[in-house]
Amino acid sequence: MFPKFFETLQGDKIPLPVFFPDATRAVLKTLDSTDIKNTQTPGILVNSFHLLSNPGKDVIKSFGGVKKYMNWNGAVISDSGGFQVMSLAKTLGGKNSVTDIGVTFKMDGKKILFTPEISIKTQLALNSDMVVVLDDFTDPKNNLTEAKDSVRRTLRWAENCKKIFEANTKSWLKKPYLLGVVQGGGFAILRKECTKELVDIGFDGLGYGGWPIKSDLTFDYQSSDIIRQYTPDNYLLYGLGVGKPHEIATLVKSGWHIFDCVLPTRDARHCRLYVWKDASTLNYSYFTPNKNIYYRDKSSVSKFCDCHLCQNYSRSYLAHLFHIKEMTALRLATIHNLRFYSELMRKLRYV
Ligand SMILES: [Zn+2]
Repeated sequence: MFPKFFETLQGDKIPLPVFFPDATRAVLKTLDSTDIKNTQTPGILVNSFHLLSNPGKDVIKSFGGVKKYMNWNGAVISDSGGFQVMSLAKTLGGKNSVTDIGVTFKMDGKKILFTPEISIKTQLALNSDMVVVLDDFTDPKNNLTEAKDSVRRTLRWAENCKKIFEANTKSWLKKPYLLGVVQGGGFAILRKECTKELVDIGFDGLGYGGWPIKSDLTFDYQSSDIIRQYTPDNYLLYGLGVGKPHEIATLVKSGWHIFDCVLPTRDARHCRLYVWKDASTLNYSYFTPNKNIYYRDKSSVSKFCDCHLCQNYSRSYLAHLFHIKEMTALRLATIHNLRFYSELMRKLRYV
Protein backbone atom coordinates (compact mmCIF):
# COMPACT_ATOMS: atom_id res chain seq x y z
CA MET A 1 0.00 0.00 0.00
CA PHE A 2 1.49 3.36 -1.03
CA PRO A 3 1.52 6.03 1.70
CA LYS A 4 -1.13 8.72 1.17
CA PHE A 5 -0.35 10.97 4.13
CA PHE A 6 2.45 12.28 6.29
CA GLU A 7 1.06 11.96 9.82
CA THR A 8 2.31 14.30 12.55
CA LEU A 9 2.80 13.34 16.21
CA GLN A 10 -0.46 15.20 16.90
CA GLY A 11 -2.27 12.94 14.42
CA ASP A 12 -2.73 15.53 11.64
CA LYS A 13 -2.66 13.91 8.21
CA ILE A 14 -0.88 15.91 5.52
CA PRO A 15 -1.61 14.79 1.93
CA LEU A 16 1.37 13.67 -0.17
CA PRO A 17 3.42 14.79 -1.99
CA VAL A 18 4.59 17.55 0.33
CA PHE A 19 7.31 20.21 0.25
CA PHE A 20 9.08 21.36 3.45
CA PRO A 21 10.92 24.71 3.14
CA ASP A 22 14.15 24.97 5.16
CA ALA A 23 13.70 26.76 8.48
CA THR A 24 17.29 25.98 9.42
CA ARG A 25 17.42 27.79 12.77
CA ALA A 26 13.72 27.31 13.60
CA VAL A 27 12.78 30.34 11.52
CA LEU A 28 12.05 30.97 7.85
CA LYS A 29 13.97 34.18 7.26
CA THR A 30 11.75 37.32 7.50
CA LEU A 31 8.57 35.31 8.33
CA ASP A 32 6.86 34.27 11.52
CA SER A 33 4.78 31.13 12.01
CA THR A 34 1.50 32.86 11.08
CA ASP A 35 3.00 34.01 7.77
CA ILE A 36 4.11 30.43 7.01
CA LYS A 37 0.67 29.03 7.83
CA ASN A 38 -1.02 31.59 5.56
CA THR A 39 1.02 30.35 2.58
CA GLN A 40 -0.64 26.92 3.11
CA THR A 41 2.78 25.41 3.74
CA PRO A 42 2.07 22.26 5.79
CA GLY A 43 5.53 21.63 7.24
CA ILE A 44 9.08 22.88 7.68
CA LEU A 45 12.57 21.37 7.99
CA VAL A 46 14.83 22.39 10.89
CA ASN A 47 18.54 21.78 11.29
CA SER A 48 19.50 19.71 14.34
CA PHE A 49 23.12 20.80 14.48
CA HIS A 50 22.33 24.53 14.36
CA LEU A 51 19.65 24.15 17.05
CA LEU A 52 21.99 22.03 19.18
CA SER A 53 24.46 24.94 19.04
CA ASN A 54 21.85 27.63 19.58
CA PRO A 55 19.65 27.90 21.65
CA GLY A 56 20.64 24.31 22.70
CA LYS A 57 18.54 21.17 22.88
CA ASP A 58 17.72 21.56 26.59
CA VAL A 59 16.16 24.99 26.00
CA ILE A 60 13.93 23.63 23.21
CA LYS A 61 13.14 20.48 25.21
CA SER A 62 11.99 22.63 28.15
CA PHE A 63 9.36 24.14 25.83
CA GLY A 64 8.16 20.66 24.78
CA GLY A 65 9.87 20.73 21.38
CA VAL A 66 10.56 23.00 18.45
CA LYS A 67 6.88 23.39 17.45
CA LYS A 68 5.95 24.91 20.79
CA TYR A 69 9.18 26.93 20.85
CA MET A 70 8.31 28.69 17.58
CA ASN A 71 4.51 28.49 17.97
CA TRP A 72 4.15 26.38 14.82
CA ASN A 73 1.25 23.94 14.55
CA GLY A 74 2.27 22.29 11.27
CA ALA A 75 4.66 19.39 10.67
CA VAL A 76 8.41 19.44 11.39
CA ILE A 77 11.20 17.29 10.00
CA SER A 78 14.62 17.56 11.64
CA ASP A 79 17.71 16.69 9.63
CA SER A 80 20.54 14.68 11.19
CA GLY A 81 22.99 17.61 11.30
CA GLY A 82 25.41 15.43 9.34
CA PHE A 83 25.81 17.73 6.36
CA GLN A 84 26.90 20.66 8.56
CA VAL A 85 29.33 18.67 10.71
CA MET A 86 30.87 17.07 7.61
CA SER A 87 31.47 20.57 6.21
CA LEU A 88 33.05 21.70 9.49
CA ALA A 89 35.12 18.50 9.64
CA LYS A 90 36.85 19.39 6.39
CA THR A 91 38.79 22.04 8.32
CA LEU A 92 40.34 19.19 10.35
CA GLY A 93 41.54 17.12 7.41
CA GLY A 94 38.54 15.85 5.49
CA LYS A 95 37.67 12.20 5.75
CA ASN A 96 40.36 11.61 8.40
CA SER A 97 38.12 13.31 10.90
CA VAL A 98 35.19 11.01 10.00
CA THR A 99 35.49 7.64 11.77
CA ASP A 100 33.04 4.85 12.58
CA ILE A 101 32.47 6.51 15.97
CA GLY A 102 31.42 9.86 14.53
CA VAL A 103 32.62 13.16 13.09
CA THR A 104 35.23 15.35 14.76
CA PHE A 105 35.38 19.05 13.97
CA LYS A 106 36.47 22.34 15.47
CA MET A 107 34.07 25.03 16.61
CA ASP A 108 34.92 28.17 18.60
CA GLY A 109 38.44 26.76 19.04
CA LYS A 110 37.13 23.56 20.64
CA LYS A 111 37.32 20.03 19.25
CA ILE A 112 33.84 18.47 19.13
CA LEU A 113 32.74 14.88 18.40
CA PHE A 114 29.31 14.48 16.75
CA THR A 115 27.93 10.92 16.89
CA PRO A 116 24.81 9.02 15.78
CA GLU A 117 23.69 9.10 19.43
CA ILE A 118 23.98 12.90 19.71
CA SER A 119 22.10 13.33 16.42
CA ILE A 120 19.16 11.09 17.44
CA LYS A 121 18.89 12.43 21.00
CA THR A 122 18.92 16.02 19.72
CA GLN A 123 16.15 15.28 17.22
CA LEU A 124 14.05 13.55 19.88
CA ALA A 125 14.46 16.60 22.13
CA LEU A 126 13.16 18.73 19.24
CA ASN A 127 10.09 16.45 19.16
CA SER A 128 10.00 16.51 15.37
CA ASP A 129 7.62 14.38 13.29
CA MET A 130 10.42 12.75 11.30
CA VAL A 131 13.89 11.89 12.60
CA VAL A 132 16.70 11.39 10.07
CA VAL A 133 19.64 9.04 10.74
CA LEU A 134 23.21 10.31 10.59
CA ASP A 135 24.84 9.28 7.29
CA ASP A 136 28.27 9.54 5.70
CA PHE A 137 27.98 11.75 2.63
CA THR A 138 29.41 10.14 -0.54
CA ASP A 139 31.46 12.87 -2.17
CA PRO A 140 30.68 13.06 -5.93
CA LYS A 141 34.45 12.98 -6.53
CA ASN A 142 34.83 9.65 -4.67
CA ASN A 143 36.12 6.59 -6.55
CA LEU A 144 34.37 3.23 -6.06
CA THR A 145 36.52 2.22 -3.06
CA GLU A 146 35.91 5.53 -1.26
CA ALA A 147 32.20 5.44 -2.08
CA LYS A 148 31.99 1.86 -0.74
CA ASP A 149 33.50 3.03 2.53
CA SER A 150 30.91 5.83 2.89
CA VAL A 151 28.11 3.30 2.28
CA ARG A 152 29.58 0.87 4.83
CA ARG A 153 29.76 3.64 7.45
CA THR A 154 26.30 4.95 6.52
CA LEU A 155 24.87 1.46 7.16
CA ARG A 156 26.75 1.07 10.45
CA TRP A 157 25.53 4.46 11.68
CA ALA A 158 21.99 3.70 10.46
CA GLU A 159 21.93 0.54 12.57
CA ASN A 160 23.25 2.46 15.62
CA CYS A 161 20.73 5.25 15.07
CA LYS A 162 17.85 2.80 14.95
CA LYS A 163 18.92 1.10 18.21
CA ILE A 164 19.27 4.48 19.96
CA PHE A 165 15.92 5.65 18.54
CA GLU A 166 14.13 2.47 19.74
CA ALA A 167 15.75 2.60 23.19
CA ASN A 168 14.76 6.25 23.71
CA THR A 169 11.18 6.10 22.42
CA LYS A 170 10.01 2.93 24.24
CA SER A 171 7.50 4.83 26.35
CA TRP A 172 6.26 7.14 23.56
CA LEU A 173 2.60 6.60 22.67
CA LYS A 174 3.25 7.80 19.12
CA LYS A 175 6.71 7.76 17.61
CA PRO A 176 8.09 10.01 14.89
CA TYR A 177 8.97 8.51 11.53
CA LEU A 178 12.55 7.26 11.31
CA LEU A 179 14.22 7.87 7.95
CA GLY A 180 17.23 5.97 6.61
CA VAL A 181 19.45 7.72 4.06
CA VAL A 182 20.79 6.05 0.92
CA GLN A 183 24.35 6.91 -0.11
CA GLY A 184 26.58 5.54 -2.87
CA GLY A 185 27.00 8.51 -5.21
CA GLY A 186 26.57 7.74 -8.91
CA PHE A 187 27.44 4.03 -8.47
CA ALA A 188 24.28 2.08 -9.27
CA ILE A 189 25.50 -1.07 -7.53
CA LEU A 190 26.15 0.85 -4.29
CA ARG A 191 22.79 2.65 -4.37
CA LYS A 192 21.10 -0.74 -4.78
CA GLU A 193 23.08 -2.40 -1.97
CA CYS A 194 22.61 0.53 0.39
CA THR A 195 18.84 0.61 -0.25
CA LYS A 196 18.43 -3.13 0.31
CA GLU A 197 20.50 -3.17 3.50
CA LEU A 198 18.62 -0.20 4.94
CA VAL A 199 15.33 -1.96 4.21
CA ASP A 200 16.70 -5.02 6.06
CA ILE A 201 17.45 -2.84 9.11
CA GLY A 202 13.90 -1.44 8.80
CA PHE A 203 12.76 2.20 8.56
CA ASP A 204 9.57 4.17 7.91
CA GLY A 205 11.08 5.73 4.83
CA LEU A 206 14.27 6.29 2.86
CA GLY A 207 15.96 9.48 1.72
CA TYR A 208 17.91 10.16 -1.45
CA GLY A 209 21.23 11.20 0.12
CA GLY A 210 24.38 12.69 -1.34
CA TRP A 211 24.69 15.06 -4.26
CA PRO A 212 21.98 14.33 -6.88
CA ILE A 213 23.58 16.29 -9.73
CA LYS A 214 25.82 14.46 -12.23
CA SER A 215 29.10 15.81 -13.64
CA ASP A 216 27.22 17.02 -16.75
CA LEU A 217 25.00 19.06 -14.35
CA THR A 218 21.86 17.02 -15.05
CA PHE A 219 19.83 15.43 -12.25
CA ASP A 220 20.74 11.84 -11.35
CA TYR A 221 17.40 10.11 -11.95
CA GLN A 222 19.11 6.74 -12.30
CA SER A 223 19.91 6.71 -8.56
CA SER A 224 16.41 7.85 -7.56
CA ASP A 225 14.91 5.11 -9.77
CA ILE A 226 17.12 2.43 -8.17
CA ILE A 227 16.13 3.54 -4.66
CA ARG A 228 12.46 3.52 -5.70
CA GLN A 229 12.80 0.05 -7.24
CA TYR A 230 14.25 -1.60 -4.13
CA THR A 231 12.13 0.19 -1.51
CA PRO A 232 8.89 -1.40 -0.22
CA ASP A 233 5.70 0.32 -1.41
CA ASN A 234 4.64 1.37 2.10
CA TYR A 235 7.84 3.42 2.70
CA LEU A 236 7.93 7.21 2.51
CA LEU A 237 10.45 8.38 -0.09
CA TYR A 238 12.18 11.68 0.57
CA GLY A 239 14.31 13.66 -1.93
CA LEU A 240 16.63 15.42 0.53
CA GLY A 241 17.43 18.93 -0.65
CA VAL A 242 15.60 18.42 -3.96
CA GLY A 243 13.70 21.59 -4.80
CA LYS A 244 13.56 22.65 -8.46
CA PRO A 245 9.91 22.39 -9.58
CA HIS A 246 10.63 20.18 -12.61
CA GLU A 247 12.84 17.83 -10.54
CA ILE A 248 10.12 17.55 -7.88
CA ALA A 249 7.51 16.90 -10.60
CA THR A 250 9.63 14.12 -12.17
CA LEU A 251 10.30 12.43 -8.83
CA VAL A 252 6.62 12.62 -7.84
CA LYS A 253 5.70 10.83 -11.06
CA SER A 254 8.10 8.01 -10.17
CA GLY A 255 6.68 7.65 -6.65
CA TRP A 256 8.56 10.08 -4.38
CA HIS A 257 6.64 11.87 -1.61
CA ILE A 258 8.64 14.44 0.40
CA PHE A 259 10.97 17.27 -0.61
CA ASP A 260 12.83 20.10 1.08
CA CYS A 261 15.00 22.91 -0.25
CA VAL A 262 16.25 26.44 0.43
CA LEU A 263 15.40 27.40 -3.16
CA PRO A 264 12.02 29.21 -2.89
CA THR A 265 13.02 31.29 0.14
CA ARG A 266 16.55 32.05 -1.05
CA ASP A 267 15.33 32.97 -4.54
CA ALA A 268 12.74 35.30 -2.99
CA ARG A 269 15.45 37.18 -1.13
CA HIS A 270 17.38 37.47 -4.41
CA CYS A 271 14.52 39.07 -6.37
CA ARG A 272 13.40 35.88 -8.10
CA LEU A 273 9.68 35.17 -7.87
CA TYR A 274 7.96 32.12 -9.36
CA VAL A 275 4.88 32.95 -11.41
CA TRP A 276 2.31 30.54 -12.90
CA LYS A 277 1.64 30.92 -16.64
CA ASP A 278 -1.91 29.66 -16.11
CA ALA A 279 -4.16 28.32 -13.38
CA SER A 280 -4.10 24.61 -14.14
CA THR A 281 -0.76 23.47 -15.61
CA LEU A 282 2.73 23.30 -14.13
CA ASN A 283 4.07 25.94 -16.54
CA TYR A 284 5.72 28.89 -14.81
CA SER A 285 8.21 31.70 -15.39
CA TYR A 286 10.27 34.02 -13.18
CA PHE A 287 9.37 37.56 -12.22
CA THR A 288 12.08 40.07 -11.26
CA PRO A 289 10.75 43.27 -9.67
CA ASN A 290 12.94 45.66 -11.65
CA LYS A 291 12.13 49.33 -10.98
CA ASN A 292 12.96 50.41 -14.55
CA ILE A 293 10.25 48.13 -15.94
CA TYR A 294 7.59 48.06 -13.22
CA TYR A 295 7.49 51.48 -11.51
CA ARG A 296 4.20 52.33 -13.25
CA ASP A 297 2.74 48.81 -13.18
CA LYS A 298 -0.38 48.69 -10.99
CA SER A 299 -1.07 44.99 -11.59
CA SER A 300 -0.28 42.23 -9.10
CA VAL A 301 2.80 40.01 -9.46
CA SER A 302 0.58 37.09 -10.51
CA LYS A 303 -3.11 36.92 -11.38
CA PHE A 304 -3.02 33.18 -10.62
CA CYS A 305 -1.84 33.63 -7.02
CA ASP A 306 -3.90 34.29 -3.88
CA CYS A 307 -0.98 35.12 -1.58
CA HIS A 308 -0.75 38.16 0.69
CA LEU A 309 1.50 39.98 -1.80
CA CYS A 310 -0.59 39.34 -4.90
CA GLN A 311 -3.90 40.14 -3.18
CA ASN A 312 -2.77 43.45 -1.68
CA TYR A 313 0.16 45.05 -3.49
CA SER A 314 1.25 46.07 -6.99
CA ARG A 315 4.36 45.15 -8.97
CA SER A 316 5.36 48.80 -8.69
CA TYR A 317 5.24 48.76 -4.89
CA LEU A 318 7.27 45.53 -4.66
CA ALA A 319 9.87 46.93 -7.10
CA HIS A 320 10.05 50.06 -4.93
CA LEU A 321 10.56 48.03 -1.72
CA PHE A 322 13.35 45.98 -3.32
CA HIS A 323 14.98 49.13 -4.73
CA ILE A 324 15.18 50.82 -1.33
CA LYS A 325 16.33 47.51 0.24
CA GLU A 326 13.37 47.35 2.59
CA MET A 327 12.98 44.14 4.67
CA THR A 328 9.28 44.01 3.82
CA ALA A 329 10.23 43.24 0.19
CA LEU A 330 11.94 40.03 1.33
CA ARG A 331 8.97 39.05 3.49
CA LEU A 332 6.40 39.59 0.73
CA ALA A 333 8.50 37.82 -1.92
CA THR A 334 9.11 34.86 0.43
CA ILE A 335 5.39 34.60 1.18
CA HIS A 336 4.66 34.57 -2.57
CA ASN A 337 7.25 31.87 -3.41
CA LEU A 338 6.08 29.62 -0.58
CA ARG A 339 2.51 29.94 -1.83
CA PHE A 340 3.77 28.98 -5.30
CA TYR A 341 5.33 25.82 -3.84
CA SER A 342 2.24 24.85 -1.82
CA GLU A 343 0.19 25.26 -5.01
CA LEU A 344 2.80 23.26 -6.97
CA MET A 345 2.39 20.33 -4.57
CA ARG A 346 -1.42 20.59 -4.75
CA LYS A 347 -1.26 20.46 -8.57
CA LEU A 348 1.10 17.46 -8.40
CA ARG A 349 -1.37 15.53 -6.27
CA TYR A 350 -3.65 15.39 -9.33
CA VAL A 351 -1.07 14.72 -12.06
ZN1 LIG B 1 1.54 35.68 -4.88
